[in-house]
Amino acid sequence: MNSAESAALALVCKERGWSEAENSESADLVLINTCSVRLTAERRAFGRIAHYAGLKKKYKNNLTLVIAGCMAQRLEKKLIEKYPQVDYVMGTSARSLFPVILEAAENGTKAILDINEKTVFSFSDSHFDKKQDTAFRSFVPIMHGCNNFCSYCIVPYVRGREVSRDPQNILKEIRHVGERGVREITLLGQNVNSYDWHGQFQTDNSDKMDFSTLLKLIAQEVKNCGINWVRFLSANPGNFSSRTIEVLAEESVFCRHIHLPVQHGSDSVLKMMNRGYTAQTFLKLVKDIRSAMPGVTISTDILVGFPGETEEDIEKTLNLMEEIKFLYSFMYHFNPREGTKAFDFPNRISDDVKKERLSRVIALQKKHTTLLLKNRIGSTEVVLIEGISKKNADELITRTEKDEMAVVPGPKSKIGSFGKITISALKGNTFRANELL
Ligand code: SF4
Repeated sequence: MNSAESAALALVCKERGWSEAENSESADLVLINTCSVRLTAERRAFGRIAHYAGLKKKYKNNLTLVIAGCMAQRLEKKLIEKYPQVDYVMGTSARSLFPVILEAAENGTKAILDINEKTVFSFSDSHFDKKQDTAFRSFVPIMHGCNNFCSYCIVPYVRGREVSRDPQNILKEIRHVGERGVREITLLGQNVNSYDWHGQFQTDNSDKMDFSTLLKLIAQEVKNCGINWVRFLSANPGNFSSRTIEVLAEESVFCRHIHLPVQHGSDSVLKMMNRGYTAQTFLKLVKDIRSAMPGVTISTDILVGFPGETEEDIEKTLNLMEEIKFLYSFMYHFNPREGTKAFDFPNRISDDVKKERLSRVIALQKKHTTLLLKNRIGSTEVVLIEGISKKNADELITRTEKDEMAVVPGPKSKIGSFGKITISALKGNTFRANELL
């Protein structure tokens, strides 16, 4: 989401005639688009802000320093107090103010923004910033915010309630990126399968649209604009309808890989997390998806060390992982976020125990990833050719439908097209193939 929003902001700059500076010393404006979902991301953003604030103090009094994104929204006053060199703080719903900031920077003046003004979130028209390494893939946001209030998560507080994007604008952006050579899109949202748009759509008699109906529309649209693969991120297991599974199964344009964040395998922890499903319902969902879409792979997020988590709870998580065998997982341990319910939960787990549990989860995941990838050696896969290998100019970097990397010898002219490979070996988590078929 952050990448998509950064691309949209970069586009606003380009449309006004701005271009990328060669280095930070020569920049007239620095915008740091922050994320507050994880504490580590926030710490990193603070490091960058300190760096540019220091730079501005030392050399460049005329540098305009803008801090955007949800961390900016959360810590607005604190940020300005700590770094008076920061010129503007712009939350996710205040992006409409960005042209005003740019205009002031162009004129060498300072814009007066009403920080108390209640801004409403609106989607940018395009989130595609054509760069070498992302030229054939693009994000297309379809919704923003979240109503789920998982007890550990800051998103509903900083990004607000769910807003679904007008389907006509979604299709327009899809056509736009398809015409510019994009071959794969990822539909984005904090909780994509809660998509719930109210309003008339063309010939449709209904006055609302859910995620499954939107997917059907998108499947029709991409047939006309050269996009062969559609993914989505992130789907909440608790909101995954059977109709969505049917549409995914009917339409081969949806990649046979789904990211489904389980977070934990213990019902008591899932309840404390307020996830809205149990381990059994998650297992049933995966079973339904697998029987509707043979060969589909599932990846996940796993959060260990939640307050009150017992040895038995972590065993349940390891058992669930054994049962499902995720292709990969984003694994992390609980970090209390001030402002969330879980911040005040008793029975916090010590850092040592959290790290030890996380290491067991990581070790099991590594085992499963290697096992699943090794099983695919010898299979023939369609790949999207994305670029040249950094290690060998005669080799191409490609990506499979299941979102894995594969390296194969081949000519530069093939970049941006689909090809086929037969997987011959696995090096780390990257496939190797001998030739482009
Ligand atoms: Fe956060 Fe839960 Fe919403 Fe995901 S579903 S964004 S974890 S509140």
